[in-house]
Amino acid sequence: MASWLRRTRSLAVYVMSGVACTLFMAWGLPLLLAARSIGPEDAPFVSWHRDPASDLWQDGSPMLLVHRATFSDLYIAQPARGTRDFTAYWPESELQTTTGETKYPPQTVVLAPPSEESSKWVRIETTLAGWPFRCFASEAWFRTDPESGRSSMPEFHAGAYIGLIGGRHILAPLRPLPFAIALNVFFWASLTWFVVALPREFRRRKREKYGACDACGHALDPTAARRPSQCPECGAQLRRDPLGFARSPEMHFQNHYTWFVFVSSLDIMLTWKILDRGGLEVNPVAKIVIDAWGMHGAIAFKFALMLWVIVACEVLARMKRSAGKFLAICAVVVSASPVAWSLFLLLYHELVPA
Ligand SMILES: [Zn+2]
Repeated sequence: MASWLRRTRSLAVYVMSGVACTLFMAWGLPLLLAARSIGPEDAPFVSWHRDPASDLWQDGSPMLLVHRATFSDLYIAQPARGTRDFTAYWPESELQTTTGETKYPPQTVVLAPPSEESSKWVRIETTLAGWPFRCFASEAWFRTDPESGRSSMPEFHAGAYIGLIGGRHILAPLRPLPFAIALNVFFWASLTWFVVALPREFRRRKREKYGACDACGHALDPTAARRPSQCPECGAQLRRDPLGFARSPEMHFQNHYTWFVFVSSLDIMLTWKILDRGGLEVNPVAKIVIDAWGMHGAIAFKFALMLWVIVACEVLARMKRSAGKFLAICAVVVSASPVAWSLFLLLYHELVPA
């Protein structure tokens, strides 16, 4: 019962993360983009027509303009007036592209108002938001102002009106599309699991790499280069490890290496920053490398050097653990000192302008 409860709870965390990501991609991200005046209106559009050759209507043909952006889509339905009765014909039923391809708009797009209001509206815009699947919709219905003849403030359906940003009406879409929501939640929950639970599982597997002795329970050293055939504690014969060939030993000083890679990368970034501001590289070896291969070459050189130092530490640690550790600490200290110096230089030039 307890394990069942625990499992449900950990599943709930992933589902909640899935819901949060789904809502963010449908509401938060389009809003953030809209605040910087980026919307689906900016995406190139294609127009889908309803039988442009028909003699049923006079001004163009009923049309659906389709803007497809990465995180949201905009569908604009525009009617055409009939030649005889002047009723509005909307882009319902199947549509065609200019190359004659037949297109069926998504079921969730509003293509026409109710038939009794057909002539009242001049344009209906449907926005679909969400990623990777469009899972929320909002609509803006435009009508012609009888006095000015221009289209007036639209009526918003199924959306929370946020405001006018950069001349555009911004809506948070509120009409849910349940199937797409379920797909998105599943997608984001699985992604969260991949990002959170999978590495943890790998770490757990790695930690118990060589397992423990069956007889006395002694945990075998995961950093040993080779799994021993006898228990070093009680001397019992160990079972053969069928996956032994796939288990590389753990590194000895992983924290040290993390710091080493971090300060070395900082060194590269700060060097680049200083050279960018017209400074000079004082390390003669680095200067030769930068002059010969440029910054990209210097980065490759630096990382090759880092790799070499880490391998050297590991090799040394297998012979004498304390010596390897000393080398690892030295590597961190030595690569940290130019970083400290660069930081001082940058700060100095920031505070004391030349
Ligand atoms: Zn043992």
